[in-house]
Amino acid sequence: MVSQDPAPKLRVVIAGGGVAALETALALKELAPGLTATTLLAPNAEFVNRPMTVREPFSYPQARHCPLAPIVHDAGAELVVGELAWVDPAKRIVHTGTEGEIEYDALVLALGARICPRYKHAITIDDRKLEETLHGLIQDIEGGYVGSVAFVAPARMAWPLPLYELALMTAGRAYDMNVELTTTIITPEDTPLAIFGSIASTAVRELLESAHIGTINSAYAEIPHTGEIVINPGNRHLTVDRVVALPELYGPCVRGIPLSEHGFIRVDAYGRLLEDERIFAAGDATEFAVKHGGIASQQADVVAQAIAAMAGAPVTPKAFQPVIRGMLLTAGKPRYLTARITGGQGFSSQFTDTPTWSPASKIASKYLAPYLDAQDRLGTPATC
Ligand SMILES: Cc1cc2nc3c(=O)[nH]c(=O)nc-3n(C[C@H](O)[C@H](O)[C@H](O)COP(=O)(O)OP(=O)(O)OC[C@H]3O[C@@H](n4cnc5c(N)ncnc54)[C@H](O)[C@@H]3O)c2cc1C
Repeated sequence: MVSQDPAPKLRVVIAGGGVAALETALALKELAPGLTATTLLAPNAEFVNRPMTVREPFSYPQARHCPLAPIVHDAGAELVVGELAWVDPAKRIVHTGTEGEIEYDALVLALGARICPRYKHAITIDDRKLEETLHGLIQDIEGGYVGSVAFVAPARMAWPLPLYELALMTAGRAYDMNVELTTTIITPEDTPLAIFGSIASTAVRELLESAHIGTINSAYAEIPHTGEIVINPGNRHLTVDRVVALPELYGPCVRGIPLSEHGFIRVDAYGRLLEDERIFAAGDATEFAVKHGGIASQQADVVAQAIAAMAGAPVTPKAFQPVIRGMLLTAGKPRYLTARITGGQGFSSQFTDTPTWSPASKIASKYLAPYLDAQDRLGTPATC
C-alpha cells in the first residue's frame, strides 16, 4: 500500500511580538494542532508586561520582561527576529527589512500602535521610559516642590487605564508623604473610565473623590505654554505646576495594506481585512477604538479561530464580541472593572474588590495569561 503524503500545513505568518501576536500563536497551537506551520516575525527579544510599567516611577520593581523565544517555541512556532517592511498581497509574501521574504497562506498583523506625544508642554506617558520621565516628578512632589498636577487625555484616548492609575498613585504618594497636592484629571470621556459602563464609572468617580482628585469630563484640552491648560468647551483656563498627558496613538501604516484614518487597519468581525481574506489583524494596530491588551487578546482569539478553520480544524469561527476587563491599580488595593462593549459603549458594568477573571492578570486573555501564570508557578527561568 502506498502511503499518502500528509496534507501540507497552512503557512501562517504572525508579525509582532506583543500580546496580540503571542495570543494568536498560542491559540493556534490549541485550536489547530499540527495543521499550521507558524512563523512569528518580531524585532523585540522580550515580551514586556506593559501595564505594570505605571508602577515604575513609584520605586516598584521594573515591569516584567520575558524572553520571547521560549514563548514562541512553546507555541509551536518559529521565531524570526526582524521587522515586517511591506506586504505583497498578490504574491502572498511578507518582505522583511533584513531577513528576506517570507511566504504565507495566512498573515496576521499584530504590530501595535505608534506612540506620538500630543502636547509639547506636557510629560507624555510612554511605557518605554516611564520611570525616567516621571520619577523626577514624584520626587519633586515628595519634596514639596510641586503643588499641583494635571493628568490630561487628548481627544482620541490611547489606553483607558494608565492616566487614572498614575493620578491615583501620585495623589496617594503625596498623602503618604503628608504634602499638599492638587490633582486633576482632564478627559474627553463623559464620565471617568466611561468605557467600563455606568456602574464601574460611578464607582471610579467615588474612588477619585475619596482620593481628592478633581475630574473635568467632556473636556478638550490644549496646553499653549508650560503649566497653562485651556479647556474647551468654555475656554476655561487652569494653571498647574506640571502636566502629564496620554499620547495619541497612530496605526502602523503598513505598505501594501489598505489603511483607515490615522494609519490603523480595518478588519471585519472575524479580524479579516475587508479587502483580502488571507490577511488578518489584531490588537492596537486595528481600527477598533478601544486600545487595551484584553481587547487585543480577544481579537487575536477571533483571528486564530478563523485561521484554524482555514487550516481544516473543526472550529466554527465566532465574531468579535468585546468584553473589557481592567485591573485598576490604585495607591492601595487594585479594583476590577468589567463591561461588554457595544457601539463604543460599556454595558453590564461591574466594579469589584476581587478579580472576576482568572488568572487575575493585568491583561486578561484566554491563552497568554494562563501560559505566563503557569510558567510563573513553575518558576521557569526561561520564561519570565
Ligand atoms: C502604561 C500602559 C498601561 C496599560 N494598562 C493596561 C491594562 O491595565 N490592561 C490592558 O488590558 N491593557 C493595558 N494597556 C494596553 C496594552 O498594553 C496594549 O493594548 C497591548 O499591549 C496591545 O497589544 P498589541 O500586541 O496589539 O501591541 P503591542 O503590545 O504594542 O505589540 C506590538 C508588537 O509589534 C512589534 N512590531 C512593531 N512593528 C513591527 C514590525 N514592523 N514588524 C514586526 N513586528 C513589529 C513590536 O515590537 C511589538 O512586539 C496599557 C498600556 C500602557 C502603555
